[in-house]
Amino acid sequence: MGWAIALHGGAGDISPSLMPPHILEAREECLRKCLHIGVSALKAKATALDVVELVVREMENHPLFNAGKGSVLTTDGTVEMEASIMDGNTKNCGAVSGLSTVASAISLARHVMEKTPHIYLAFDGAEAFAREQGIETVDASYFVTPENIERLRKAKEAKKVQIDYNTPIHKNTPVETAASNGDSQLGTVGCVAVDCHGNLAAGTSTGGLVNKMVGRIGDTPVIGAGNYANSYCAVSATGKGESIIRATVARDVAALMEYKGLSLKDAADYVIEKCVPKGDAGLVAVSATGEVTMSFNTSGMFRACATEDGYSEIGMFAS
Ligand code: ASP
Repeated sequence: MGWAIALHGGAGDISPSLMPPHILEAREECLRKCLHIGVSALKAKATALDVVELVVREMENHPLFNAGKGSVLTTDGTVEMEASIMDGNTKNCGAVSGLSTVASAISLARHVMEKTPHIYLAFDGAEAFAREQGIETVDASYFVTPENIERLRKAKEAKKVQIDYNTPIHKNTPVETAASNGDSQLGTVGCVAVDCHGNLAAGTSTGGLVNKMVGRIGDTPVIGAGNYANSYCAVSATGKGESIIRATVARDVAALMEYKGLSLKDAADYVIEKCVPKGDAGLVAVSATGEVTMSFNTSGMFRACATEDGYSEIGMFAS
């Protein structure tokens, strides 16, 4: 029993041969920094919900991940961000989709959870609610970066809606413009935590898929698919949203624990191995008793975790 935290920066066709060392180091450094922020907050007795929001916000601000500032573009070259957050004890949850100016989708999702009688707001209504609540907004052009335009161009050229479209990054590409050579190896972000009181929470945030249709909603804001928490566990998933929704990935992990008595690891591995097509998904999860697991059937997943008893891991590829 004790606190535990796990976070991810997306799963997909992530290969060391497609990423020069300095890009790898930058991503690893970012994972380390975000993990450190979460661990420090847990040690300072922050609640799981606060920790999850804090860490996801930090990742949203990092252009090497596909959320917030780094959000990828729709087929029309626009940004439609989405996120959800869930509190395991109460099963309260909030979700947002179709955001084009909100700086932190995860914080807006939390506002939906705490300040409305609803769970899920999208598009104009969600944007209006953000303004009404005084949530930070930016001009939509802030997200439409040259890197994201180039990433969209490459996806269109390849005729793909992608999490898995890879172009090698040139070895001299500066970290901040890694995307400009077509680097699609950035992903959705998520964090799960259990605090010292055994409270669980999960949060996930994304720009979705490069070249997605305008109006497309993925798994990230769908409670039970890309994100879920109850009194057994908290789960955040990443990968191909359509596959994750079909398999209700996050909820199934919790259901296997609740109804079948599986351990967190066995439940997560079962769902990832048996319920989702190979190459399509990954997840991070923690249990009420402080276990942590990070399972994926893609070639890699940007991930990090730590537990109160001193265990810590940061990884990108399959071991
Ligand atoms: N699951 C996200 C989506 O389909 C993408 C990702 O995880 O990278 O929108």
